[in-house]
Amino acid sequence: MTDSAQDFLSDFHWLMDVLQDIDVGLVILNKEFEINLWNGFMQNHSARMPDEVLHKNIFQLFPELPEAWFRRKAEAVFVLENSAFTTWEQRPYLFRFESYRPITSIADFMYQNSTIIPLTNTRGEVEQICLIVYDVTEVAVNRLQLQEANAQLHTLSRTDGLTRLLNRKAWQQELELEFARYKRHKHPSSLVMFDIDHFKRVNDSYGHPAGDEVIRQTADALRDNQREIDVSGRYGGEEFVIILPNTDAEGAKIMCERLRKAIESLTIQYEEHTIHYTVSLGIAVLNPSVSSADEWLEQTDKGLYQAKDGGRNQTVIFT
Ligand code: GH3
Ligand code: MG
Ligand code: MG
Repeated sequence: MTDSAQDFLSDFHWLMDVLQDIDVGLVILNKEFEINLWNGFMQNHSARMPDEVLHKNIFQLFPELPEAWFRRKAEAVFVLENSAFTTWEQRPYLFRFESYRPITSIADFMYQNSTIIPLTNTRGEVEQICLIVYDVTEVAVNRLQLQEANAQLHTLSRTDGLTRLLNRKAWQQELELEFARYKRHKHPSSLVMFDIDHFKRVNDSYGHPAGDEVIRQTADALRDNQREIDVSGRYGGEEFVIILPNTDAEGAKIMCERLRKAIESLTIQYEEHTIHYTVSLGIAVLNPSVSSADEWLEQTDKGLYQAKDGGRNQTVIFT
């Protein structure tokens, strides 16, 4: 053997060692999608030795590999002789490998980015492609956790802590949205505001924590008596609001009376105290003469005021 041939072979072995040990997956495929190289990374994570996979069709060995999609991608690489890249955000993985980082339940598999590069032979033709698989579990999990934390923060920033209803600011945004929807579609829409009667007495007689419990249970009663599409919020201390989309005056009144009676028949046990209480409710139905969400809310508040004035524990429709 000539010196240069020796050099070539020793270089080649050195290169193969590097490819074997490198911390990314390397798979070389021919046009029939048969495996011609399967490096250490792929062996370790798939628990398949080269003699099990070499010269076999990759789709038969790994049914999780999306065949139609992968063929399309690979064929573009064969024809255009350009690389193709896929991120974990497009496809979480190509090979379902277990994650060695049991960070959270988000990652019981390895997230992967992948690249397919064309391999040119000495005649300048692309007869094989190299699939490179990167383990990006850590990046993916961090990103997903951040997204989840942001979503939770967003929810938290819109939620009232005591009742888990929407807080005033978030609810008011919903009110504006409903008003804008009404302007477009002119569907019936009703607004309800209600307030606990003589709530100061609850606090004064049984203490502030008992008052808090009454507020909490009022929110529970509200949840039990509203529909999925109704949007309820805690407007202030012991004041609640509900948007009733697609609901006319009659429908709103039925809902309010159901809620009023449910609360009237509640018995709240707090420490040694037994608490009964009532609420007063105001309704305003949206109509074309109402010029803003604020005006709609003011009318609802007037309905509530009339209910208080009329002796409490009742529902009044603003007219
Ligand atoms: P009315 O029948 O006219 O509504 O009388 P009221 O006593 O319910 O009304 P008022 O507005 O005079 O009193 C409301 C009280 O609610 C005053 C305030 O201290 C109390 N309050 C406001 N927020 C909270 C809260 O989060 N928890 C408790 N326990 N009390 C609260
Ligand atoms: Mg009150
Ligand atoms: Mg009040």
